[in-house]
Amino acid sequence: MKCKQVQKRLSAFLDEELDTTLADEIRNHLQGCSQCHQQAEKLQGVYAWMAQPQAVAPDLFMLSRVRTAVARPHHASPAAGRVNRFLIPATVAAGLALGILLGANLVNYWPAGYPETAQNEEALLYSEWGQSTLTANYLQMTWQEGGNQ
Ligand SMILES: [Zn+2]
Repeated sequence: MKCKQVQKRLSAFLDEELDTTLADEIRNHLQGCSQCHQQAEKLQGVYAWMAQPQAVAPDLFMLSRVRTAVARPHHASPAAGRVNRFLIPATVAAGLALGILLGANLVNYWPAGYPETAQNEEALLYSEWGQSTLTANYLQMTWQEGGNQ
């Protein structure tokens, strides 16, 4: 039997769908032909992989679930997770309060002679950060998350 004929029947051979004569012919060929033997092993590997339950394709939210899991190293312990969720909004809130405070009062704390435009720009930067929708959304997100769990 030629390699092409063997390789065409490999799938059926591995599924044991061939009659014994044909199967023996292929088995003999595989013992003498490294190319077809490799092909058969590859195919067998694919079959074994497909037979595993985890071979099912990951769903759309798999990636985000993995990212969330990776972002929370303390999640393994429920107690640590609770503390972690509590601490995150507190830290952000502290940063937010500081940002607003700095933005409102920064001008009063500049050393004498500091260029006025630089003062204004930095003060603006802090207050904008504190009031930005991004920060607000993040706070809302973390707070909601903490409340739900
Ligand atoms: Zn061959």
